[in-house]
Amino acid sequence: MAFAPFTGVNHHGQSILFGGALLENEKEETFVWLFEHFLKYMFSKYPKAIITDQDKAMGNAIKKVFPNARHRFCAWHIKKHELEHLRPYVALFSDFQESYKECLMSDTIEEFETRWEVIRDKYKLENNCWITDMYNQRVHWAKALLKDIFLVGMSTSGRSESINSFFDDFLNSSTMLNDFLVQYDKAIASRRAAEEDEDFKTMNSRPVLSYIYIYIYIYIYIYPIEAKAGDCYTRKVFEIFKKEWMEATSNLTHETISKSIEEIKYRVGKLDIDKKYWQIVTFCLSNKIHVTCSCAKYETCGILCKHSLYVMKKRHVDTLPSHYILPRWTLNARYKVGKRSIRLEEMNNENGVSDYTLCCVRSNFNKVIEQVKDPPSKIENVNNVLIKLLQDQAIRKKPLPVENISQGSYVRMSQVDMTPQLFVRDPLAPTNMKGRPKIASRINSSLEVPKNEDALIVDESLEEKQ
Ligand SMILES: [Zn+2]
Repeated sequence: MAFAPFTGVNHHGQSILFGGALLENEKEETFVWLFEHFLKYMFSKYPKAIITDQDKAMGNAIKKVFPNARHRFCAWHIKKHELEHLRPYVALFSDFQESYKECLMSDTIEEFETRWEVIRDKYKLENNCWITDMYNQRVHWAKALLKDIFLVGMSTSGRSESINSFFDDFLNSSTMLNDFLVQYDKAIASRRAAEEDEDFKTMNSRPVLSYIYIYIYIYIYIYPIEAKAGDCYTRKVFEIFKKEWMEATSNLTHETISKSIEEIKYRVGKLDIDKKYWQIVTFCLSNKIHVTCSCAKYETCGILCKHSLYVMKKRHVDTLPSHYILPRWTLNARYKVGKRSIRLEEMNNENGVSDYTLCCVRSNFNKVIEQVKDPPSKIENVNNVLIKLLQDQAIRKKPLPVENISQGSYVRMSQVDMTPQLFVRDPLAPTNMKGRPKIASRINSSLEVPKNEDALIVDESLEEKQ
């Protein structure tokens, strides 16, 4: 059986698992089944982009189940095939490699098409089936045609491969099916622990900002753009941003291409690099700061590139505009999940509130407990509010006759139900039992993996919804 993990990227840039499946074969109908089930457990949230190898069966299944998803072929797999199929051309023509590379590196679709025509005619590429087939599928791999897809900076399926090798520590071909789930849970717990570790580091550390000494007045100047990024981004993402910022402030130069009332165009790059490799940055002169770069780092990765930052600094932009800070690169990506408001159509939905909405509400509930459990007086207040809610709900739902059961007795039931959750054990108190009590009396943390299988799926997908 083949193990098929769905891999994504969290707010720290770590590889995470959306889910996984054991497949009996790799036929198109099997992939259709797999994707349909994946969609179901993702609460019908369609993926916007997918990276796979060039497997035809999988590609057809993606078209059927995720018709609107952008599908990219893994660049590493393409490279591997290129070596094999282009070798004769490299041997025959000394300039082939350079021309082919230049075509692939085209910034615009028009440029790519023009250059492709040139190399196709010059080197008679139409005689090669593999190259013709690749050209017909260029929408899945040509850089110029992929510049508008947000793929968190990925161009290969390497993360999936690394998740596979990560599972090697937990699973192997002789693992029995009944052991599989146990091992899978362990692997998931390990990934979650790594994410929580990064959350903790982000929450409990300050970003190291660059600064300049102003000798005349003897004070230190910190760049507001960098400071804002340090406040917003997670630790790892800030490190990526900082690299771009350092380049922008120390290594780049520019020349102005054009200037109009609406915008200014610059060519930006390093002095020691040929200008044909410099990037074109457009800065709009409107009230709202708008900057675009031909390298498309922001569109594909969600972080402003060094070229855009260089121009922003040059144009005296004094802070990082909030519309350039993607929430998915901040701690909010994880902790704001429960803030999702319930839409009116869901409240009026005859099938009831959706599972996803319930998940968000439960998530809020767990977070409230996490946030107020210390000091005890706070959680007692929360408990009183909850008891009041339960009382109100009970009165509304069950207007029981007074002669059968009094309202007061029902209220006491609620209080009895809630009381054990407030019970705090004295750690020094002696106990007559060994090991874990048969009935756990502590409140489960929202970060713990639920044992219920459905809840596991829900919990897993919840983290990925951000
Ligand atoms: Zn750029």
